[in-house]
Amino acid sequence: MQKHSDFKDFTLITPTAAMSADTYGGRAKCLQRLIRLEMPVPTTIALSFACVKGIAAGQMPETSVLLSPFGQSPLLSVRPSSQDKDWGGPSAILNIGMNDARHVELINRLGDPLADRLYQRFIRSYAIHVARLDPDDFELPETPNRDTIKAALDAFDSEAGTPFPQNPQVQLAEVLRSMARAWEGTTARLLRQAKGAPADAGLGLVIQSMALGLGKAESGSGVIQFVDEITGEPLVKGRYLPQSQGRDALQADMPSMYLTKDSRGASLEEKLPNVFGDLLRHGAQGRQFLREEMQMEFCIQDGELLILDSVRLPRSSQAAVRIAVALADDGVIAQPEAVLRVEPRALNELLHRQVASTATRDPIARGIPASPGAACGKLVFSGTDAQAHAAQEEACILVRPETTPEDIRGMHAAQAVVTERGGMTSHAAVIGRGLGLPCIVGVSNWTLDVGAKTITTADGRVFSEGDLVTVDGTKGEVLAGQVPMREAALDNTFQTLLGWADQFRDIGVRANADTPADAVTARNFAAEGIGLCRTEHMFFEADRMSVMREMIFADSPEDRKASLDRLLPMQRADFLQLFDIMQGLPVCIRLFDPPLHEFLPSSREGMRELAEALDLALSDVTRRVEAVSEFNPMLGMRGVRLGLTIPEIYDVQSRAIFEATIAAARKGMVIVPEIMIPLVSAKREVEIVKKRIEAVAAAVRTETGADFDFKLGVMVETPRAALRAGDIAQHATFLSFGTNDLTQMTYGLSRDDAGRFMSSYVQQGVYPEDPFHTLDKDGVGELLQIGAERGRAARADVTLSICGEHGGTEDSIQFCRAAGFDYVSCSPFRVPVARLAAAQLALRDSLKDRKT
Ligand code: PEP
Ligand code: MG
Repeated sequence: MQKHSDFKDFTLITPTAAMSADTYGGRAKCLQRLIRLEMPVPTTIALSFACVKGIAAGQMPETSVLLSPFGQSPLLSVRPSSQDKDWGGPSAILNIGMNDARHVELINRLGDPLADRLYQRFIRSYAIHVARLDPDDFELPETPNRDTIKAALDAFDSEAGTPFPQNPQVQLAEVLRSMARAWEGTTARLLRQAKGAPADAGLGLVIQSMALGLGKAESGSGVIQFVDEITGEPLVKGRYLPQSQGRDALQADMPSMYLTKDSRGASLEEKLPNVFGDLLRHGAQGRQFLREEMQMEFCIQDGELLILDSVRLPRSSQAAVRIAVALADDGVIAQPEAVLRVEPRALNELLHRQVASTATRDPIARGIPASPGAACGKLVFSGTDAQAHAAQEEACILVRPETTPEDIRGMHAAQAVVTERGGMTSHAAVIGRGLGLPCIVGVSNWTLDVGAKTITTADGRVFSEGDLVTVDGTKGEVLAGQVPMREAALDNTFQTLLGWADQFRDIGVRANADTPADAVTARNFAAEGIGLCRTEHMFFEADRMSVMREMIFADSPEDRKASLDRLLPMQRADFLQLFDIMQGLPVCIRLFDPPLHEFLPSSREGMRELAEALDLALSDVTRRVEAVSEFNPMLGMRGVRLGLTIPEIYDVQSRAIFEATIAAARKGMVIVPEIMIPLVSAKREVEIVKKRIEAVAAAVRTETGADFDFKLGVMVETPRAALRAGDIAQHATFLSFGTNDLTQMTYGLSRDDAGRFMSSYVQQGVYPEDPFHTLDKDGVGELLQIGAERGRAARADVTLSICGEHGGTEDSIQFCRAAGFDYVSCSPFRVPVARLAAAQLALRDSLKDRKT
């Protein structure tokens, strides 16, 4: 036997051979681990990345040396061993060394049918994968025999222009060369780079003594795993096929044998209980020492077990969570490692129902995937129709040019929402994420005719009201018809993993929650409070909307106050309910923000209804609606500007907050409400509002004889507020960065219209990503940085947070941690993802610190 020191750039895999995945690839390293565990692995040689690179460049190692550990006239397999198995690699080639002489030998040993099949298959795979001949010329006959083998050898001769090589050394060299070259090919390189492989990613190869899986006594091959790859539940699963090789057992049409006892047929457990027992033992050993849930490829040769390979079990997100938790519970890995093993984004799959990966997809429209999950229902084109369907308990999909507050009830009634206009932070997107409703915005490849209630797709198909479609909000695709779904899969292990994550997290995670339902979701996902309650969303219920409209139409401050007084008890009840649900956790309430016209009808019919309700002439209503409409409402009279010009609105809201605080205190809760002023751009705005709010607080204290505390803060969402954060912080105990408006204003880019051209901008590389989706760290980020620094310099204990839609994404959490923010606040359904992402960032930092 050759000593491994005799090998250059390739080595016999022994327990002590110097071998790392960075040099020889993951498969080689894993095989060494199995050998160290004394599993029955056939003799294997590993070729390093450098060696394979050399082979591609024409420097073939001495094949006689390569063959020497395998004894006289061996049969071999060669498999790829790339650094990361996701980067792919050429297909494995089995039975190298097969030739006329070995064929005769095998006929004597195994009989004609098995020997013929084996030789025929090798000729075919060599012809296709090594000599690159046309597969059609090497079809596998149903029952190979000497004639079909001769025909295949002749075909090789005539197509390749050279006889089929009989010399095992030549065969091996050609196999190695073709696999090495395939890795260097442009297509393979582009494919693996798309999966994140570096340009110079290496390929290793392993040459292994072939376990035939064919023999007179029980022989065959199979694959075994010890948990279910979809649910992660412990379960022995796999297939075994007698008289087979490689992954034959996995072919669906093969009559494979059950692994465990099964009433439906024969099982390996019954047939070879000792071998089955050994498989379980090796499985448990592998899990313990490879510290991973593995899938093992095995072979039985004349009743004897061989382990050929072991790979990390491919798994669903649900299984990933369960497996990580189980490994930590069993002490195989530590809790921090379990937390690091689950991709935060994968949690989305657990939180929402998804289109099944096996579903046949017929996309009829594409847009921005604004809220993940999938739903199926009948097309409807108005909020009222959505409500009518909901009343009949019929699932529906609401399609609108864009949504406005008028559509809120329709959105609640629908299973999913699709809009033609809009971007990641437009109305439909924000509400959709809040409700956990699948949502696609900015669909441009269809023609929407709301009047005719039709959609015409790019390929000319027409879909009308009542037609069934599926919305895949995760991918941003509307699909024709109903497609199979996979249900959301929240279970205890999910909660356990997030509980562990919270121990390592060093930045807070709150939720943006406007309604009691949002708050309940936020609590269930263990948000540490509400970071943004957009109070205007409380006014969109029908009964409140009419009072709001009366208030807007009021002729005098007295009339306005009368309407607002009707809103007061409703708001008080809203806040008390939020305090109740959040059980003493902080609740940050943002004062009224949107332009008033959002509360007014836009259609003639709506205006007529309003005229009726307010007992006014239609012309009066139309005139007033026109009077409050603005050319550029997002930059017009909204936020604090409204608070300054119609101060009664903020007066009544702060009174409602204080009275709810007192009511909560009477129920035994200690609440310190946080009141946030939106759209600030100047310190003076804060001073004026603060003075009024303090006056309201004083009045409530006097009237009720009760004392309470509150915090007043500012939403930093205009560039000027970020630049003047030092001034502003003098009057604010907290600064919360609203990155939706801040992105809109920094870019001068409408958050409601950007969806139309965003994909073209991203495709042309103008923006690397949609800045409403991925925080622009260069521009908007610089403003956050400046705002945070100036705010902190002016007031060291100012609380810093982010509450725009970016709050839940991993990269913005990373940014906020680095900038010293106290917490992020995001849609309730993003809270779990944010908790996990934040924990992973902290853990990785502590690992880095330990290394340095
Ligand atoms: C923001 O602008 O980032 C924000 C959170 O407020 P809204 O989305 O309500 O404008
Ligand atoms: Mg805003």
